[in-house]
Amino acid sequence: MAKKNPGDVLSGDWNPVIGCERYSAGCRACWYLDGIFPWQQRLGNIPAGVRPDESHAFPKRLSEDALYPKNGIVGVVQHGDLFWEKVPEATIDTVLSIVDAVAARKRRTPKYLLWTKRARRMAEVLTRRYPAGLPGHLAVAVSVENQATADERLPELARVKGTRVVVLEPLLGPVDLSAHLPLEWIIVGSETGKRARPLDLAWAREIRDQAIGHGIPFFIKQLGTSHKDQLRELDGRTWDEFPKGFVK
Ligand code: SF4
Repeated sequence: MAKKNPGDVLSGDWNPVIGCERYSAGCRACWYLDGIFPWQQRLGNIPAGVRPDESHAFPKRLSEDALYPKNGIVGVVQHGDLFWEKVPEATIDTVLSIVDAVAARKRRTPKYLLWTKRARRMAEVLTRRYPAGLPGHLAVAVSVENQATADERLPELARVKGTRVVVLEPLLGPVDLSAHLPLEWIIVGSETGKRARPLDLAWAREIRDQAIGHGIPFFIKQLGTSHKDQLRELDGRTWDEFPKGFVK
């Protein structure tokens, strides 16, 4: 993840567990499988024998000391999907226990963002672990790419009490969110890369108008087919709104 990209909603990330498999149409140009994994393995940061489609935990990263220095908005397991079925439940619990323990030690607590497409497993795990709702330091984001994935995944997100985020990236079609409110943050982004499927600005406008209409913070990551073109403006301005308490 490019840390200087203004379209990034995160201050940093923590990846004690890696691994994923393509799950839906939004995964076609997966930046982790196609970019981060082979690059990090070439650098020797991922052992040579580890495959991208296996869940791998790094003992040194899976510690409070590794997470403690990170501040702002911290993405938890960005290199894969924490709620992928191949990630053992015990590993998910360890990750969440470290986050909770570090949050309890910090004077200014960061916001830790869990980010997934596997909304059903996410909801099962989080409602079991936090029956009264997510603690204030945690937020959960579900990625969707079109109306069908929104209608499948967002009812699962609605089962979780707390800060709920929908990430419409890569946005591949129009999405009406009205059946899935309330939400605490709406993020839109296009697909990028050589074979990127372009985003129709009308889709972004409709979602922006839904966000405005319901008073939900709205953020556009990028609208073009490349991060480099910095195409982030919609109707003459950028949209960089964060929920209250989220400071990058
Ligand atoms: S869920 Fe995310 S990390 Fe996994 S394949 Fe899809 S885009 Fe990649």
